[in-house]
Amino acid sequence: MIRCKWVPAKVNIHAWRMEMDKVPSAEALIRRNIGVHSTLCPTCNSEEETVDHMFDTCIIAANVWNGVRVWCKIPNIYAFYLKDLLSIFKDLDATEKKKEAVQGIILIRCWSLWRARNNAKFSNTPIRIENILSEIKALGFFMVFL
Ligand SMILES: [Zn+2]
Repeated sequence: MIRCKWVPAKVNIHAWRMEMDKVPSAEALIRRNIGVHSTLCPTCNSEEETVDHMFDTCIIAANVWNGVRVWCKIPNIYAFYLKDLLSIFKDLDATEKKKEAVQGIILIRCWSLWRARNNAKFSNTPIRIENILSEIKALGFFMVFL
């Protein structure tokens, strides 16, 4: 099971949901015969909302990933699927502590994207990449010193 001892419980619970395919994206709801008003990603409004899209290939997710990558000094690695992104830390040329920190920050990133998506979808709060990055840095700040 994907989890990190350095991140808040809510982040690990969200990681568990991603791993178990329990994130209620529009595509997942339709698959479970639950009606949705729109299948479009509420953050970019241009593609179908799947978990791979919302956490990986969405332009918002990609921009946030780029900010995280620069902040954590991670090489420019591109993952096509969420499961690949969640295991990127394993291939880093880094100490075990840095790998663990990167894993935690990636999990925080996914949780922050999910929160921003929900705020956009249910409260019409505009998506601001700098706000998502600020939240990730606030929650993950201490881990960069591991
Ligand atoms: Zn999108």
